[in-house]
Amino acid sequence: MRIDGKKIFVLGAARSGIAGALLAKSLGATVFVSDKKSGEEIKDTTDILRRHGIEFETGKNSFGRITEFDLLLLSPGVKLPDEVKRELKKQNIPVLSELEFAYRFIDIPVIAVTGTNGKSTTTALIGHILNSAGISAFVGGNIGNALSNLPLGNKRYDVAVAEVSSFMLEDIEEFRPHITVFTNLSPDHLDRYSSYQEYIDAKLNIFRNLKEDSPVVLNYDCADLMKATERFVFQKVFFSKENRNASVFASGNREGFRIESAASGRPVSVLFNNRNLVGLHNLENVLAASAAALLYGAGPEQIENGINSFKGLSHRIELVAEINGVRFYNDSKATNVDSTYVALSSFEKGIIWIAGGRHKGTPYTQLSELVKKRVKKIIAIGEAAPIILKDLGGIADIENWGTDFEGAVRRGFEVAKPDDVLLLSPACSSYDMFTNYEERGERFREIVRKLEGKK
Ligand code: ADP
Repeated sequence: MRIDGKKIFVLGAARSGIAGALLAKSLGATVFVSDKKSGEEIKDTTDILRRHGIEFETGKNSFGRITEFDLLLLSPGVKLPDEVKRELKKQNIPVLSELEFAYRFIDIPVIAVTGTNGKSTTTALIGHILNSAGISAFVGGNIGNALSNLPLGNKRYDVAVAEVSSFMLEDIEEFRPHITVFTNLSPDHLDRYSSYQEYIDAKLNIFRNLKEDSPVVLNYDCADLMKATERFVFQKVFFSKENRNASVFASGNREGFRIESAASGRPVSVLFNNRNLVGLHNLENVLAASAAALLYGAGPEQIENGINSFKGLSHRIELVAEINGVRFYNDSKATNVDSTYVALSSFEKGIIWIAGGRHKGTPYTQLSELVKKRVKKIIAIGEAAPIILKDLGGIADIENWGTDFEGAVRRGFEVAKPDDVLLLSPACSSYDMFTNYEERGERFREIVRKLEGKK
């Protein structure tokens, strides 16, 4: 695609929009960035635009000017109003998502990872396996480093591993991953889509340009995904936690799991035993990542080394320390009950569970069975503490520590015995006490470090 001399309207000045704007500018286009947020709110990004001499507006979107442009580049977080979409179509002005735009300037294979859950973990893990095997992999997309930064930068990579969200897939045209990974499918983002089917259709757009021999890694254990992909013809590479008919599957034993495969014609059996990736949900992520790495050509030793040396992602059931036999896990990213369900399922017993924050409306009673079997004590914090007390008070030993976060963590350590797990998995947003979940997780780490200093 040639864009020199073209005029490009970039809608949305978040990370991807800015990276797209800089890429377009570096390729000779005249760029205009528009964001509804106030100049105050996005000062950091407008500073970047100013430095690069890129024109922009804040606090509004001047769609009235749209006909002056040759192309609209869409940030993944922004939804284009239907009437603007219609007008653009009428005027023959193409709309490209930042993903599609960046893809036009990428000349290395792309491994794309999508699905409802586990995208970031799987993406980072594939990148880690390949990079530690000496295959240089760019890791980006929805995971933070916009894909446009790949062609924009000077470093050469062998392969790009891209996390792609349903939003990013809405406006693609030519995007064709070399390998596609689909982790699972369940209802999500129903605030943006009018139905589950509409969300599924946006996700399935990732298959749009695949050929019959394009490999697609699919979760055999996910009924919704199996049903949604039934009609598609491509090279399906199934992974499963238990079914040995899948191309890549897990077999459990006492020392951990073995990831096995006979798909490539050479039997593969590697040991997976990594305490940074606990829980069956992470086993699925490991299976998906191993399948993708095998397809790309990584060998068994490289995969075994990669899956066991991965540190995990921050704030997602992240092992931060072990003090006197007590393991401390930071799962601050668990801002809803479903995520905490996954975390509580990841440990057999002996959980001292720190929960609470700003309540989101979902009852905690959904966790009753897990709490009964696995949780020794609940330490409730924040605005949600009284509700947690009401929902789970009858079935578990529970204390309310209000806004005393440090006190809560210290108390958890005080009651913990060797082999117990002190788990911060709030099931709530952080906004009552922190700026965001990252700050909450950092604070947890700091407090744990102090405890470590004292041991
Ligand atoms: P995503 O990028 O799709 O949001 P992440 O890898 O960031 O996924 O994980 C976010 C949270 O989703 C985790 O903390 C965990 O609670 C849950 N999760 C991760 N992997 C899976 C999976 N394979 N299946 C179900 N839930 C998962």
